[in-house]
Amino acid sequence: MIELDGSQGEGGGQMLRTSLTLSMITGQPFRIVNIRANRAKPGLARQHMVAVTSAAKVSSAEVSDIEVGSTRLEFHPKRVTPGDIKIDIGTAGSATLVLHTLLPALLLAGEPSSLLIRGGTHNPMAPPMHFVDRAFGRALRQMGAVVELELRRFGFYPRGGGEIAANIMPCRRLQPIELIARGPRLHAFAEAFVAALPPDIAHRELDVIRAQCDVREANLRMCGLPNDQGPGNVLLYTVEHEHVTEVFSAIGERGVRSEDVARRVAAEARAYEESDGAVGEHLADQLLLPLALAGGGSFSMAHLSQHTLTNADVVRKFLPVRIDFIREPSRTVCTVGG
Ligand code: ATP
Repeated sequence: MIELDGSQGEGGGQMLRTSLTLSMITGQPFRIVNIRANRAKPGLARQHMVAVTSAAKVSSAEVSDIEVGSTRLEFHPKRVTPGDIKIDIGTAGSATLVLHTLLPALLLAGEPSSLLIRGGTHNPMAPPMHFVDRAFGRALRQMGAVVELELRRFGFYPRGGGEIAANIMPCRRLQPIELIARGPRLHAFAEAFVAALPPDIAHRELDVIRAQCDVREANLRMCGLPNDQGPGNVLLYTVEHEHVTEVFSAIGERGVRSEDVARRVAAEARAYEESDGAVGEHLADQLLLPLALAGGGSFSMAHLSQHTLTNADVVRKFLPVRIDFIREPSRTVCTVGG
């Protein structure tokens, strides 16, 4: 039985999700205590509950009794059964984080799966679906995964109701990748999505991106969404390089000026572009798991976060891999080896 303490390191929900994924794949049961101990509202939120119950369903796992707010659980998986899976989070909880939990296990399950998840698609502190497809999805495809990811409907907090779909073809084994240099920049574009809110929000956000980022006028896109997908606003700035795509984003919030939402995106994008790291902070913590499953590979990152260090600790508990971080003047290189 693998034992985890959710108060260690970053102390958030990712420790639980990574454990669920690796438990399903390796068949090793785990017990976790102090779930999300470092969060303002510790314990399982609805999104984490759904990640647990969906992982349990997909792998016929036995799970100890849990409810929203639970701070400990035990998970005993059996076999992962691929197929048609529909999940409704029932709130605006992040659908992409539930997708993150299930996707690697379904990829390696030997038969195709199709996954439909309803919930939040663009949440603060979670990967927007565009990021999952363009950034994380691109890296997975480079590793040999055949996966189609689709955003069918936006879902914003507090209303939720977004819909994402994944068609997953079986992959015997992920292949290692080396993402040390991002390569020449090929394309950059910004999209300001607005649903049931004044279009002026999008104009003001794009004005900041125009002033602060290196992007052509024709690549600043104002994207109106149907009113019934809102209210909500997300600003995305996508930068494609030869070897990697990054998506920087921020969610519009009541009481936060549109200019400030956009400044956050621009600052994150500039920090990335000024560094020598191939991947940004979020892609770094998310790439560790597939690389560890591939049994090797490496990537360089602009900033080594506590999320990444903590995720590495969880991965090491489940898989016999070596994960090293080598700090260089303007980046950190992560190598994963069997
Ligand atoms: P908690 O409420 O405990 O923080 P959580 O379930 O939201 O729980 P975290 O442990 O904080 O979980 O993990 C959030 C995940 O979302 C991380 O993998 C992080 O990289 C990713 N993420 C957060 N913001 C973004 C973003 N803007 N773009 C891409 N990924 C993001």
